[in-house]
Amino acid sequence: DTLPGLDNLVANTAYLKAQNINHDKLRDQWISLSLPKLKMSSDLQASVGRNYESLCEQQPIGKKLFQQFLLASNSQYMVATEFLQELSDWSFAEKEAREKAKQRILAKFFQPGSRSFLSYFTGEAAGICKGLSIQKFDVVMLDELREATRDLLRGKPFVEYLDSPFFYKFLQWKEYEKQKINDRYFYEFRTLGKGGFGEVCAVQVKHTGQMYACKKLDKRCLKKKGCERLALLEKRILEQVNSLFIVNLAYAYDNKNHLCLVMDLMNGGDLHFHIYELGERGMCMERVVYYVAQITTGILHLHTLDIVYRDMKPENVLLDAKGQCRLSDLGLAMELPKNKKVCQKAGTTGYMAPEILKREAYRTSVDWWSLGCTIYEMLAARLPFKDFREKVQNEEVTRRTLEDDCKFEHKNFNDSSKDLIRCFLKKKPVHRLGCRNGNDDPRDHVFFKSINFSRLEAGLVDPPWVPKSNVVYAKDTNSLMESSVVEDIQFEQRDEEFFKMFSTGAVSIQWQKEMINSGVFDHLNDKENNYNGYNNESS
Ligand code: ADP
Ligand code: MG
Ligand code: MG
Repeated sequence: DTLPGLDNLVANTAYLKAQNINHDKLRDQWISLSLPKLKMSSDLQASVGRNYESLCEQQPIGKKLFQQFLLASNSQYMVATEFLQELSDWSFAEKEAREKAKQRILAKFFQPGSRSFLSYFTGEAAGICKGLSIQKFDVVMLDELREATRDLLRGKPFVEYLDSPFFYKFLQWKEYEKQKINDRYFYEFRTLGKGGFGEVCAVQVKHTGQMYACKKLDKRCLKKKGCERLALLEKRILEQVNSLFIVNLAYAYDNKNHLCLVMDLMNGGDLHFHIYELGERGMCMERVVYYVAQITTGILHLHTLDIVYRDMKPENVLLDAKGQCRLSDLGLAMELPKNKKVCQKAGTTGYMAPEILKREAYRTSVDWWSLGCTIYEMLAARLPFKDFREKVQNEEVTRRTLEDDCKFEHKNFNDSSKDLIRCFLKKKPVHRLGCRNGNDDPRDHVFFKSINFSRLEAGLVDPPWVPKSNVVYAKDTNSLMESSVVEDIQFEQRDEEFFKMFSTGAVSIQWQKEMINSGVFDHLNDKENNYNGYNNESS
């Protein structure tokens, strides 16, 4: 055996080095890449669908190709997309930049003589447009113009696009997206953490350099414990979410021994580690406000999809390289049946809401309770009803949760944090923040007064703390060794079918982002540019 410390050092070095991507070396690999030629299969067309929002707005490659089509076709349409872009810039801008953006929009799009005058509005929108003065330039009115613009694009341009070489190219990308994924698609690096069914390690896509975390679920272990359904559930929930504040799934595939979930790599460590292991116990208020704002936005995203998280706690909040946080481990999350409550007991001791402990029916209320506990813990480095490392029976934690008031003895609390925690720790769901009269919005609480949520959601608010790029915020590899393998488990036909259901490969939005960010999208498009009649740049 070699020195365990040395193994760890070697693993860390390789992992850190991989993150400094050598772009020239990457590009060399692209020579062998090409987009698949299509047999105009109606299967592909049908699976892609004809939904404007999905094809031209949500899917990043679809959006790009639609824009390229507009650019090459009719100047009116191009002006329309430029207008949408500048509106979006304006809505996220602050102070002087916001005023400048507004002046630019007015001069560019609303002067009848100007080249980019928006002449395509009809009816009410046209009236708004002509009567425009600086005073009337407000959010409500611009929402109307934005919708009118989208309506324009959704009409004739969209229909023409579906018939153009640009859409054919999109179908080629969709075909490429369907490629089978296996272990050879990735390089593998050190183990980052351990879960109930296997380890999580860092991986890198060979031809894009994109780093991810791969959660490997041991097939035999899953079968032995009868947890296959849960794995599929976690995967299905992960692929539905697309939020800056929840780990996104990029690929799901399987190999001989594992089901693999390939997700955003969060290399800044989890909040539990940050509360207890780094520096003074607890966290400064600035960081707490920032993280809680992101967590709240993430929880709200899940709730709008009718998903309850059920495992809100610092350990499940991970930081990325920039210092932004995301919710992870959706293994206990559940899709709620419409207008119905559920009453299954799920969660972690110390964070479970009274209604769960009393086996009452609930919907999303339980997440706000757990968030209250989490905020308390971030500030006081202990739970409201359980001290750090306190040896206490679950029954006693339950009793305290149901009967006791929460005390604020730690110096880190201020008035607004105390009030927010009290609002989340209301024993009755109907009194709790986030659940009162038809789900009130926690983002309106004074605790968040320094946060501009629309900028936060656009990823434009700088994190208060940034992880060091030369530090690995994970336990030593030797403390994360694989535990004993499960043997004497045989797979049957139905197991194989189940594995196949799990292994759906690339997840559209994440995969398309990866293609664009790595430069592969531009590279392959330039390489095969054959938009006969559309490309007005080349001779
Ligand atoms: P389980 O559901 O089995 O508890 P988790 O999803 O919590 O598994 O993952 C186990 C551990 O792996 C986490 O505690 C964390 O240390 C690490 N981990 C999980 N997801 C990521 C990720 N996306 N990036 C970095 N580390 C991760
Ligand atoms: Mg976990
Ligand atoms: Mg889990």
